Amino acid sequence: MNNNLLPIEIIGGGLAGLSLGLALRRKNVPVKIHDKGGYPKHRVCGEFITGLGATTIDRLGLAPFLKDALHHHSVAWFIGGRATKIQTLPQPALAMGRHQLDQRLADSFVQSGGVLCSNSRITDSLTLPGRIVATGRRKGESSWLGLKIHAFDFPLDRDLELHLGDQCYIGLTRLPLGRVNICGLFAKRDLSAKGAKLLLIYLRAAGLNKLATRLAQADFDADSFCVVAAVGFDRRVSKAKGMSLGDACAMIPPFTGNGMAMAFQSAESALHPVLAYSRGQMDWQTVCMTVQNDLRRRFQTRLVSAHLLHPFLLVPRRQRWLARLTRSRLLPMQTLYSVLH
Ligand SMILES: Cc1cc2nc3c(=O)[nH]c(=O)nc-3n(C[C@H](O)[C@H](O)[C@H](O)COP(=O)(O)OP(=O)(O)OC[C@H]3O[C@@H](n4cnc5c(N)ncnc54)[C@H](O)[C@@H]3O)c2cc1C
Repeated sequence: MNNNLLPIEIIGGGLAGLSLGLALRRKNVPVKIHDKGGYPKHRVCGEFITGLGATTIDRLGLAPFLKDALHHHSVAWFIGGRATKIQTLPQPALAMGRHQLDQRLADSFVQSGGVLCSNSRITDSLTLPGRIVATGRRKGESSWLGLKIHAFDFPLDRDLELHLGDQCYIGLTRLPLGRVNICGLFAKRDLSAKGAKLLLIYLRAAGLNKLATRLAQADFDADSFCVVAAVGFDRRVSKAKGMSLGDACAMIPPFTGNGMAMAFQSAESALHPVLAYSRGQMDWQTVCMTVQNDLRRRFQTRLVSAHLLHPFLLVPRRQRWLARLTRSRLLPMQTLYSVLH
């Protein structure tokens, strides 16, 4: 370890925190990551990655971690229970389980000499020089709930099926090792059940009866079930003091499948300025401003575009408009995917 380098402390060991920590370790920077949980863990995530370019993969050295990710080319849209459109993605998306991906990054970070403090929740002094916040979505008022579970060998129409219901959408994605990710965003309702049963009653409440009946036959991995409440979305990059990366800086609506790419891209944006700080070449305030400006430049268009489209996926009346536009080939999703890089 080079003692002349200033240490960096990262709060939150998800994709943003681990990928930045690892990239800094490769430059010999002393790095400590605190995570309030442990590894491996299932997370509420569709595990479908759009917009992650070769440059980001290269700069963060992510290729070995993504080596067995599936490459997906098509999305089948179902609106109001009807198959509406098969969309070819402008660029293939990757699909890989977080249970495996986060564990691989965490192992590699530790092997590179990084210090990983599991079960360590940090809530204060977040703006201290050298401290980076990568704690995921910010908690706030929201009526949205995320549910996720894996099933084994469940047949799909396409690489990704996206179903729009009443105040909900849900994606079904093929993953490596014969798994299928089933993950949805739902308006919170007064419903109670456990595990896959909760998912099925939420689907029925949202009018997605056919899908619920199909999924009732699935062979679920009960351990993979997880829920997240109070999911909120951002229209702009956070102006909070200090440095925030990944969802902590801006959470894009999940239908884009772009949150994981944004977590990596924010780590990529932070890498050189943080390195300059560690080498004593830039003060912390300038580093934070440089990174925040870069994140704003990179993310603003996609955040606003996704925010404008989001209500069209959730409300049946608007979904009918979306279906009409889709049939007349004015698919707004194609335009959206092209700004996700
Ligand atoms: C329903 C839903 C579906 C989604 N589907 C997709 C998808 O298909 N594709 C996609 O790309 N994205 C998807 N996302 C978004 C994606 O999961 C996130 O954008 C991504 O995980 C962000 O990574 P991150 O590193 O910023 O945060 P996270 O992965 O959330 O990691 C944050 C880490 O910080 C830790 N932490 C939190 N607070 C503290 C604390 N105080 N102290 C210490 N540690 C702390 C947590 O334990 C966690 O490990 C989805 C999100 C939701 C809600």
